[in-house]
Amino acid sequence: MYLCTRKWHNCQLNIKKMNEIGYQIGVWFDQNRRELPWRHTKDAYRIWLSEIILQQTRVAQGLDYYERFVAAYPRVDDLAAAPLDQVLKLWQGLGYYSRARNLHAAAQQVMVWRKEHGGKDFPDTFADLIGLKGVGRYTAAAIASFASEERVAVVDGNVYRVLARLYDIDTPIDTTQGQKLFQGLADELLEQTVGEGKGKESPGRHNQAMMELGALLCTPTQPKCPTCPVRSHCLALAAGTVVERPVKQGRTHVRERHFTYIIYIYKDKLWVHQRGAGDIWQGLWEFVLNEDGEVPAAVKDRATLVLERKHQLTHQTIYATFYAVRLPDDKDPKTNAAIGTLPDDYRPIGWMEWQQLAVPRLIDEANKRLSAWFGSDCLRDER
Ligand code: SF4
Repeated sequence: MYLCTRKWHNCQLNIKKMNEIGYQIGVWFDQNRRELPWRHTKDAYRIWLSEIILQQTRVAQGLDYYERFVAAYPRVDDLAAAPLDQVLKLWQGLGYYSRARNLHAAAQQVMVWRKEHGGKDFPDTFADLIGLKGVGRYTAAAIASFASEERVAVVDGNVYRVLARLYDIDTPIDTTQGQKLFQGLADELLEQTVGEGKGKESPGRHNQAMMELGALLCTPTQPKCPTCPVRSHCLALAAGTVVERPVKQGRTHVRERHFTYIIYIYKDKLWVHQRGAGDIWQGLWEFVLNEDGEVPAAVKDRATLVLERKHQLTHQTIYATFYAVRLPDDKDPKTNAAIGTLPDDYRPIGWMEWQQLAVPRLIDEANKRLSAWFGSDCLRDER
């Protein structure tokens, strides 16, 4: 029995047979792991791409985007040189667009970093990676351990869950104390784990094995304990507390917002603008938005309902309603009170050009409805 007495660990948790636990998870991983393209490379750039894409994204969805990004930008130089709008367009549908903006900014950071690290294409140590935009402790540890076998333990949502259950820990994972405790425990488990050749375990294999166990067996609901390789060591299973682990302290406040979108159509043009900084969907495009408002009185009698949607983001619930307003062909649209008072950043744009711009998923849904609702001929660009 291993008795942990580390300073970060006030509770003197009994950590049983860590080397055996880590070893068994490693053996299970070799036999059950999913074959994913980023698992067959030591290229830090590609591993970084996959890690950023997979943050808050399911593997099945992320796979397609990973292939797209690798095809469009085979090297980090290609990504750094690409226009941000193009990167956002490729990202469209994945959500959490700050990841795409950070991806682009980090690629440009790498170009500068490279000048001081002659001969290296992309950072592959924890210390260098943690300085990149959008790369936190988890992502830096994952890339450094997968690409260059640096001995740093990863702690993502899956690993929190596995450790909280294995050791039946009720310290909330969303507290500073909890984060320190779990990081220390993960580091210790990596340190104690015996590898295939009875020597030190490969950090890359161990970290992936822990994450895979959480993703495939030790799932948030209905974990598959009967087939778990470490069930005989699992303290939560023995205590009947599996569904209560991990513990979270804080409840996230979800803000409700009401968006009224007005799709002004004049001949073949639609009025759109690019969202600015300081709010969701920065850099993405949308129709005329009247938050907490209605269709302006000047065009109310021309408005037709196109779509109503409740759209869930992590910290916000958006209730969106889309109306289409066709403006008369024979009058300059600027004479219309609703168009005349739009802020300067709104501009009319042709349907084909509109299709090339990066938009939030919610707007994409309205686009599909709009296209079907009007028929394909109606919004075609003037030639
Ligand atoms: S026995 Fe169940 S709860 Fe325990 S680590 Fe395995 S899957 Fe998770």
